Amino acid sequence: MSFPWQEITWVLLDMDGTLLDKHFDDYFWETLVPDEYARKQGLPLALARDLVFARYQREEGTLNWTDIDFWSRELDLDIPALKEGIRHLIEVHPDTEDFLRFLRQMGKKIALVTNAHYKTLNLKMNHVGLLGYFDEVISSFDLGAPKEEAGFWEVLEEKIGFESQHTLLVDDNADVLASARRYGIKYLLFKAKSSSQAAAEPHPDFPSIASFRELMD
Ligand SMILES: [Mg+2]
Repeated sequence: MSFPWQEITWVLLDMDGTLLDKHFDDYFWETLVPDEYARKQGLPLALARDLVFARYQREEGTLNWTDIDFWSRELDLDIPALKEGIRHLIEVHPDTEDFLRFLRQMGKKIALVTNAHYKTLNLKMNHVGLLGYFDEVISSFDLGAPKEEAGFWEVLEEKIGFESQHTLLVDDNADVLASARRYGIKYLLFKAKSSSQAAAEPHPDFPSIASFRELMD
């Protein structure tokens, strides 16, 4: 892919699945949390999984979904402590740091835009040490709306002053890309390989990349 970099001023990058390996989150929410919930409530694991997954489904795409304090209350578990306990599993995708360096060399403005709660954001960024690459670090939790809603992009534009026609967003969530497209952001790329443990799955509605290397020639 020969990407029109000369058109781009701002590069907006999602965190989980896009810059970082989503395997950490998948393992955390799909395995560790149901296990801990089963143990704490004295439930069979299969039932605990059903109950926990049903609650996830109810909150998907909302700010509650990203609010680890909400989940601590909802599930009666210490979610930040559980995350802290497996922080060694947080991994950066192998092409991430080279891509960030590549963007800096071209003089692009770079913003991390994530739905993650600031506690999760801090835990992960302190662990992987990438913060120095970003001009702005934005948690939708602080903005008051998730990336799936127009309100997020409105407040972000006011805050950092990006121009929609000269902005690239890379995200592994197609609902987020659709919301950015409705807002008018012109360059949208779907990160098709979000987890080291899963195959790349290109999206039918958006140009897809498995690796940032595809943007670096
Ligand atoms: Mg993501």
